[in-house]
Amino acid sequence: MDIRFLGAASTVTGSRHLVDLGGERILLDCGLFQGWKTLRERNWAPFPVEPASISAVVLSHAHLDHSGYLPALVKQGFKGKVFASPASCDLAEVLLLDSAHLQEEDARRANRLGSSRHAPALPLYTVADAKRALARMVPLAPGRSTRVGSVRVSLSPVGHLLGACAVSLEAGGTTLVFSGDLGRGNDLLMPPPQRVARANALIVESTYGDRLHPHEDAQQRLGTIVRATVRRGGSVLLPSFAVGRAQALLLVLQRLRGQGEIPADLPIYLDSPMATQATALYQRHAKLLRIRAREAAQLCEGVRLVGKAAESEKLTRARWPCVIISASGMATGGRVLHHLKAMAPNPRHHIVFPGFQVAGTRGAKLVEGAREVKIFGEYVAVKAEVSHLEGFSGHADADELMQWLRGFEAAPAQTFVVHGEAHAADTLRTRIQDELGWRVRVPEHLEHASL
Ligand SMILES: [Zn+2]
Repeated sequence: MDIRFLGAASTVTGSRHLVDLGGERILLDCGLFQGWKTLRERNWAPFPVEPASISAVVLSHAHLDHSGYLPALVKQGFKGKVFASPASCDLAEVLLLDSAHLQEEDARRANRLGSSRHAPALPLYTVADAKRALARMVPLAPGRSTRVGSVRVSLSPVGHLLGACAVSLEAGGTTLVFSGDLGRGNDLLMPPPQRVARANALIVESTYGDRLHPHEDAQQRLGTIVRATVRRGGSVLLPSFAVGRAQALLLVLQRLRGQGEIPADLPIYLDSPMATQATALYQRHAKLLRIRAREAAQLCEGVRLVGKAAESEKLTRARWPCVIISASGMATGGRVLHHLKAMAPNPRHHIVFPGFQVAGTRGAKLVEGAREVKIFGEYVAVKAEVSHLEGFSGHADADELMQWLRGFEAAPAQTFVVHGEAHAADTLRTRIQDELGWRVRVPEHLEHASL
């Protein structure tokens, strides 16, 4: 077996691991690089191997750092099938089409402003490319298996996001397991990760490999924030991932409202058409969630769903107070930017980041206490209160990662720690070595391992 780490090695984005096994070449995840510019530039480099030489892609889940490069791979000649769980296939459709729209918009904007070094600026891929990639997707139900040549492919749910799974590849008695992103033991929406018992080689994520989630009650903390902000006449802005996080926020806000913890007449806006679409998918796949069907069905009850961009613009002039959930989650783009621009200079408002902020993003800068941020080419003073709610994280923390690893019956011959900033990956590596006694290493970008 041969593994090439084409991304998410010593960083948290661009998840892509190329496996040569049983005469087949299978790509585990096909993610976009995000965050620092030097990382994002990797998206533009030619793919390190001939895409046509890849037999199949298996996606652990639909987050763009795991799926967002797929249209570019197809554009460069990949002709195989793309396996993912049924819910991941549904979410990928929403996420990849949106990603393609954004790529097209960015290129148009760069051409209009003449701000690109390339003339004309081209999108990484178009909506048409994304549709061609989506046509290659084949749903694979967790617990079932399929074959790519002599390789048996199967999935097991890991919480984290609707449809998210660990991937197992087995050929000739050798099994490779890839964790994808692991969820938490007590996630609001998703059940805990299922145990995987056997692996000869293991690739495990380490996003929170050096941290433990604080024992904060996310619902209680958000309730406190909303009440205090409303009391001073301000609004709460929740920059949120449209998929997963937005639904968890809706759930918590509904519970707070139901329990009389926040005013029943406080307007709640979901200002993200993608989040609205994703919420419908969470409702369609409600059986995969840990909440009751009725609660899933009522996620949007009494919530104002903002459709057109003009309505969203109008909302920035709305009389406060209100709660606005808007994307993107790291304030790197999307409608949340005009809310941020309007709200950041006013100390009455509260900007609450309910998710992990990748280093280098606007969200990370705000959470670190930046006094000004650049939005649409202008510096905007930050006087609003800024908070980071870690209780909403969809990622297993270091102890939860270790707990999943303890589920294996025997030590894998080799474990690779990926999908973490350098310190997180190395801290988890040390724990695996010291506490489990396994052979473990942190691969470097483009490293090639033969087993
Ligand atoms: Zn993820």
